[in-house]
Amino acid sequence: MLQFENVCIQYGKTVVLSDLYAHIEKEKLTVLIGKNGSGKSSLLGCLIGQTNHTGRILLQNKPLDAIKPRERAKMLSFLPQTMPESALTVRQLTALGRTPYSGLGGRLQDGDRKIIEHSIARCDLLHLADKPLNKLSGGERKRAFLAMLLAQDTPFLVLDEPTAHLDTLQTAHFYATLQTLVHEEKKTVLFAAHDLNSAFSAADNVLCLHHKQAVFSGSKQKFIESDLPKTVFGLHAQTVTDTDGKTRTFFYSPM
Ligand code: ADP
Repeated sequence: MLQFENVCIQYGKTVVLSDLYAHIEKEKLTVLIGKNGSGKSSLLGCLIGQTNHTGRILLQNKPLDAIKPRERAKMLSFLPQTMPESALTVRQLTALGRTPYSGLGGRLQDGDRKIIEHSIARCDLLHLADKPLNKLSGGERKRAFLAMLLAQDTPFLVLDEPTAHLDTLQTAHFYATLQTLVHEEKKTVLFAAHDLNSAFSAADNVLCLHHKQAVFSGSKQKFIESDLPKTVFGLHAQTVTDTDGKTRTFFYSPM
């Protein structure tokens, strides 16, 4: 689905990522992890032209920079870590998700409107649909931006720290929505996270950055069974199976 080949990112003389190779598997929920400053946001920024880089990034086997912006916006949607303050209402923001199909300021068709309302409802925001974003809580605003991504209806979604301002239950709901997108609607999702416990309970796969490289790209279970939790984070990892058969992963300090 998405391939990074020999990707290097450098700010001035500081190299953040060097010679990075990684493959993001189709129809999987992949969590991008690494210590603070390891380059997660920088790497995701390459996908929307925000981070200068060298090397190649292939989306569905096409070099990303060869895909026209409008086509790319139909293939890949992006939720940034910090979202702009705006006087747009939830519904107006969500409608922006249809721009790649209708054109900027273009007329929305009935089908677009249906998708917009459905996206708002999925994010549990119908009661706030006419409220401006700058009057919402951090968590509500995050859900509003997710509604916009849902309206964009792309096969590939990228989210940078999507649960940063959410409480524990909201985080669980947010990840449940991402799991539905992947496992029932066959989307591919890549998200960066720093709360390993909740992110690992949701994710299928892991991409781990360390020492300027992708040191791991593969299944969550293989990551947990490797030495990497200790080497990268100084933590132990353990997987527990609930009575309902769901597995949960816990990271804990050996101290
Ligand atoms: P992460 O998301 O893993 O915390 P970032 O990608 O935000 O890491 O940052 C990686 C490194 O690059 C950090 O040392 C950060 O200070 C630096 N950095 C990020 N953005 C810029 C920038 N625009 N200019 C200079 N340095 C930057």
